[in-house]
Amino acid sequence: MTRSFSGIKPTGHLTLGNYLGAVRQWVEVDQHQADALFSVVDLHALTVDHEPARVRRLSRQAATLLLAAGLDPARCTVFVQSHVDEHTRLSYLLECTATDGEMRRMIQYKEKSARERAAGGSVRLSLLTYPVLMAADILAYGADEVPVGDDQAQHVELTRDLAVRFNQRYGRTFTVPKAVLPAVAARVMDLQDPTSKMGKSHAETAGIVYLLDEAEVVRKKVMRAVTDSGSDVAYDREAQPGVANLLEMLAACTDGKPAELAEGYTSYGALKKDTADAVVELLRPVRERHAELCADPGYVDGVLREGAERARGLARPIVDAAYAAVGLMRPV
Ligand code: ATP
Ligand code: MG
Repeated sequence: MTRSFSGIKPTGHLTLGNYLGAVRQWVEVDQHQADALFSVVDLHALTVDHEPARVRRLSRQAATLLLAAGLDPARCTVFVQSHVDEHTRLSYLLECTATDGEMRRMIQYKEKSARERAAGGSVRLSLLTYPVLMAADILAYGADEVPVGDDQAQHVELTRDLAVRFNQRYGRTFTVPKAVLPAVAARVMDLQDPTSKMGKSHAETAGIVYLLDEAEVVRKKVMRAVTDSGSDVAYDREAQPGVANLLEMLAACTDGKPAELAEGYTSYGALKKDTADAVVELLRPVRERHAELCADPGYVDGVLREGAERARGLARPIVDAAYAAVGLMRPV
């Protein structure tokens, strides 16, 4: 059976981008077709300035939302990254496989480090090495597939390179994984800045739809979305990024095709209204189920405990084999 792994960072409240780009395929496809593992990758949240209590709170919220969105612990494994030591154990070996040049070429590093510097902060070394820990997250489980949004494709490509290089040097140890992207809405853009990706850690929140936003808030954000100066509704990501973003969101919510949907509209207002309605309806059951699960924290704890136990059991032999392969003396 295909094995898949994917994760989400507790760096902010989950967004519509996270849902359409990643979580929805985990729920609708991966947990049914693969031996699927999903992790709240909390160690990655420490790569930028963070408040400890907030990371802890957001980790629980992310796990609860994944279950609310429909991940079924009877079908898949849900766990918190820091509960399984194998991720950091393997990360070090992969740091000894990757090069500093490779790390500095990562687009997300360039963008996020620039943002940190612009805000007057310093850049943590872990922000540079974060794709190596992500590679460890994936390779530790022998995952074949990594269902992610488009922005993570470069990191999965790096993971493949590291797996191939390690295998060539030390003998076949890792499965070489591939990224699996959704057909539509693989990159949901910020409603106020449709040339930049909607990201849960961004400080400007007016253009971000959060999964837990009230219906009225979602409506307001979508109705105020920045559109383009023309007046035609056409699906053209280059010329009309704002309209294209709305069309993709609507298509993802209604299982339609953005270009075909565009033909049905003559005004931005109608497109915005239908998109807002569709997003509200898409998120309604997730919010309702989230509220129910919040009333039962023991259930969520149990899922995470069992998830971590299963994850450890899968990762340990693979990481142990990697330790032996590189020439480290094994304990006797
Ligand atoms: P951060 O701003 O902290 O990087 P994020 O919103 O990018 O947060 P991640 O935890 O980095 O979220 O990513 C979780 C998953 O969501 C990944 O598979 C990623 O590709 C996907 N994803 C994130 N943002 C979007 C987006 N705007 N559109 C589609 N997919 C997205
Ligand atoms: Mg991200």
